[in-house]
Amino acid sequence: MGTIYRAVGGDEFIKISVIEGRDIVERARQIHGLSPTACAALGRTLCAVSMMGDMMKEENATVTARIEGGGPIGCIVAVSDSGGNVRGYAEHPGCDLPLRADGKLDVGGAVGTNGLLVVSRDIGLKEPYIGSTQLVSGEIGDDFTRYYAESEQVPAAVGLGVLVDVDRTVAAAGGFLVQLMPGAPDGLIEKLEDNIFYMDALTTILAEDGAEAVMQQVMKGLDVHLVEQHGVEWRCPCSRERFAAALESIGAEALTEMAEDGKGADADCRFCGSRYAFTAEELREMAERVKAAKKIDNNS
Ligand code: ZN
Repeated sequence: MGTIYRAVGGDEFIKISVIEGRDIVERARQIHGLSPTACAALGRTLCAVSMMGDMMKEENATVTARIEGGGPIGCIVAVSDSGGNVRGYAEHPGCDLPLRADGKLDVGGAVGTNGLLVVSRDIGLKEPYIGSTQLVSGEIGDDFTRYYAESEQVPAAVGLGVLVDVDRTVAAAGGFLVQLMPGAPDGLIEKLEDNIFYMDALTTILAEDGAEAVMQQVMKGLDVHLVEQHGVEWRCPCSRERFAAALESIGAEALTEMAEDGKGADADCRFCGSRYAFTAEELREMAERVKAAKKIDNNS
């Protein structure tokens, strides 16, 4: 279980979220067999998207981030519900690069910069709200920061960190998301920028002192009031029913065709690896159901 802390401060001009996401990222690593570099890339994305989801007010809302920068990791996808519970995957989970000269995992090299960060918010309306921005560095935190400035026109700063241990497990993971409200005085903005510039490495703070210390360092010298604190976890809402519904959407004819070789069909969840097997008989029954539903539709 991870934790999200949401607070306001700086005379209410600053909104800040902080996430402690070690367990979430470790779960992702186990499910997908992530290399250290892929673990940092997907882990940072999961932490960012969890904080974004947690800020949504609509109960059944989801937010999806898709990052595709042309690098060897391929595309990264993460989805959060409005409680900050997340799931995600990287197209090439085994992708690993040598450490950078400064000893850090080369997330930017794995992700690339030749592409977009696309954020789609589904709040239950007919169409989701979609915004996108060109990737800045592929380091994820910078890219979300730019997304807020360009696509949402909100001055923000996003810091994300994943520390992978020598045994490849996740030692620490988390991040912060600060947003400035309209009318924030220049002095406050400078103070915040200084705090973020001079703070210790995020993974060091998370590993040694925890997420609350991240909040303290970002908000150093400023007033801060905790609004909410709650648990968040890795969560995939997939089910046999959902996959059956998706299969039925391909139509009676295609289902009958699929059933013909008698082998049935397997559907794998991209996010959590669950496999749902449908026998040829079940596929035929689905085809019948689709046909029957269509008849009712035509008669009404
Ligand atoms: Zn799933």
